[in-house]
Amino acid sequence: MRRVRNVKVLATLGPASSSEEMIRALFQAGADAFRLNMSHGTHDDVRAMHARIRAIEAELGRPICILVDLQGPKLRVGKIADGTVLEEGASFRLELKHGPGDATGAELPHKEIFQAIEAGASLLIDDGKIRLEVVEAGKDYADTKVIVGGPLSSNKGVNVPDVTLPVPALSPKDRRDLDFAMTLDVDWVALSFVQRPDDVAEAKKIVAGRAAVMAKIEKPQALDFLDEIIEVADGVMVARGDLGVELPVEQVPGIQKAITRASRIAGKPVVVATQMLESMIEAPVPTRAEVSDVANAVFEGADAVMLSGESAAGAHPLEAVEVMDRVARSVEGDPQFRDTIDAGRTVPETTSADAITLAARQVAETLKAAAIVCYTASGSTGLRASRERPKVPILVLTPVVQTARRLALAWGVHCVETEDTTSFLDMVIRASRVAESEEFAKTGDRLVITAGVPFGTPGRTNILRIATVGTEARRPRA
Ligand code: PEP
Repeated sequence: MRRVRNVKVLATLGPASSSEEMIRALFQAGADAFRLNMSHGTHDDVRAMHARIRAIEAELGRPICILVDLQGPKLRVGKIADGTVLEEGASFRLELKHGPGDATGAELPHKEIFQAIEAGASLLIDDGKIRLEVVEAGKDYADTKVIVGGPLSSNKGVNVPDVTLPVPALSPKDRRDLDFAMTLDVDWVALSFVQRPDDVAEAKKIVAGRAAVMAKIEKPQALDFLDEIIEVADGVMVARGDLGVELPVEQVPGIQKAITRASRIAGKPVVVATQMLESMIEAPVPTRAEVSDVANAVFEGADAVMLSGESAAGAHPLEAVEVMDRVARSVEGDPQFRDTIDAGRTVPETTSADAITLAARQVAETLKAAAIVCYTASGSTGLRASRERPKVPILVLTPVVQTARRLALAWGVHCVETEDTTSFLDMVIRASRVAESEEFAKTGDRLVITAGVPFGTPGRTNILRIATVGTEARRPRA
């Protein structure tokens, strides 16, 4: 089962899409990866969805990527009396301990916020609908002025965009969720509200290679360390929901471009997320602006575009995936697509893997080869090939199923699990056989193959071979 597009579709599962029939339908319609959101649902729900995905994977014989998204240190106000409305210009006191909140004050049970904020800092409540400015802060209170008022109800989220909060990367809930996720074979773990590279390093230490770690960029503080965070992480997500709360929304498109570009340079998968087809939560068709938004991410060369509420809780999850698929295919077929992608081309690093990969792209494009075929165990050569954003498809052959699943999120990569190659002849015969069976090539087509010699030694991409499908198998052995 071959997709005819390079960009991948990551669909969040939830009440609207957790049945086996719907997951299968979403995969067949174009979802390459599924996101299980730890902010909603129980461990039992997640375990059940995970098992259904793996059953469908076995049934359809294609690797499916599963990403578990940790909630992160979500900050919330305490209980608020019904009917509370904050008036613009009014004084409002936040305290570590406070009875039921009203229009004069409320509980904010997070001492880290009081430790970090100073006069002048902004506090945003309920996705930024309410804005407070700190007038004076102590170790367990903050007196604020209401800049933008509105109705306030219990447990609404709080964003503190101006300061780096002394909160650990993983909340106690995240640690429990992560331990649980590690009992399942998940492929990616996404880390919310990353502020510093150390946040990612801490999560990577716990994950210990059992999954790839994705840093969600949604805090302004993370932008100060963007390159360092990308370097430590295995991939990044442009988490535009919280990013658009913490920063003026008009800055988000430029930031999206900067994150996408930096990730492409690093060769790390980048996902563009949130509100891509928001109106499809209710409507069966997207708005023109939403289609343009998805198209823009595809033109930018993002590895994946993500559906959140549209596929998790919307009325039209299947149609949302179909729209993503159609928009991506249409953009990639647009004559301007290649120019835009090539304009963002990155220079190779001084490694043999990059030298071989760059050469593979040039040879494959010159010969109009049917595919670049990469043998890889860790997946790193597959990602370097993806970084080249070649015109020809990338067929990744790996003996490691986890690699096949992880790379299902990478631009232009079609992964197949197969035994490691043992000789030059086997390498060519196996590549030809898989390229034919996966509908990438037919007899007489050329393949550009990269691998590492001695065979079976990971991290050693050092050969490039041009092969013609159907000829090597007939050549007599020397
Ligand atoms: C976001 O904020 O854009 C995001 C993807 O995170 P979440 O959906 O977990 O809030």
